Amino acid sequence: MSDSLVLQNVQRTYRTEAGELPVLRDINLTLRAGEIVALVAPSGAGKSTLLHLAGLLEQPDAGTVSILGRDAGALPDTDRTAIRRDSIGFVYQFHHLLGEFSAIENVILPQLIAGKSRRDAAARARTLLTAFGLADRENHLPGKLSGGEQQRVAISRALANAPAVLLADEPTGNLDVATAAIVFDELLSVVRTQSVAALIATHNPDLAARMDRTITLRDGKIVPYA
Ligand code: ADP
Ligand code: MG
Repeated sequence: MSDSLVLQNVQRTYRTEAGELPVLRDINLTLRAGEIVALVAPSGAGKSTLLHLAGLLEQPDAGTVSILGRDAGALPDTDRTAIRRDSIGFVYQFHHLLGEFSAIENVILPQLIAGKSRRDAAARARTLLTAFGLADRENHLPGKLSGGEQQRVAISRALANAPAVLLADEPTGNLDVATAAIVFDELLSVVRTQSVAALIATHNPDLAARMDRTITLRDGKIVPYA
């Protein structure tokens, strides 16, 4: 089986009025199916930049990003969009749910876009929401859910199309410590049952310790977290 996510010699420099800001200098990272990796680094180190590149939301200045063995940089936009839709799930610090749609509709919609029947999409959405303890909240609008519940829905949505790769950018960063720990445990247990390769940025070393390994960013490179 090919690796789920591979970054090779990835570079990213932001060009600002103040000059060039090299953020990622030489990123090399491989995630296999079922592997859950924590990315712990201080604010400004480049975590979000790295996740956006891995999620094909941005292009590197140099180097390659491969998803399931395909070099995404060599593909046309339509193929990149298809990979994002079918093979990548993204969770942000703030849920970004669609406020006019219920919890379950938020999890159904990406599946309809991917071509699933409404019946299958609803069944999958219900399974995910149930795994996150939200069976009795599926018809709630996001605004009527707690912060922890909103993030559980956002994670369910990210997993809706059974992506090979889950990328999460401080997914519990705006939750209180106790809720963050619970949501994290649920996230890990669902991810572990689905062989998803996950890269999860967090500030919290206690949460990172629950994952398979932890990496950090130093001088624009990935190194093991000491
Ligand atoms: P983190 O997520 O670890 O806090 P980021 O990836 O958001 O770090 O940012 C890394 C560095 O790049 C920061 O110094 C940030 O200010 C800078 N940066 C991020 N995005 C841009 C951008 N679009 N233009 C210029 N600089 C940026
Ligand atoms: Mg960030």
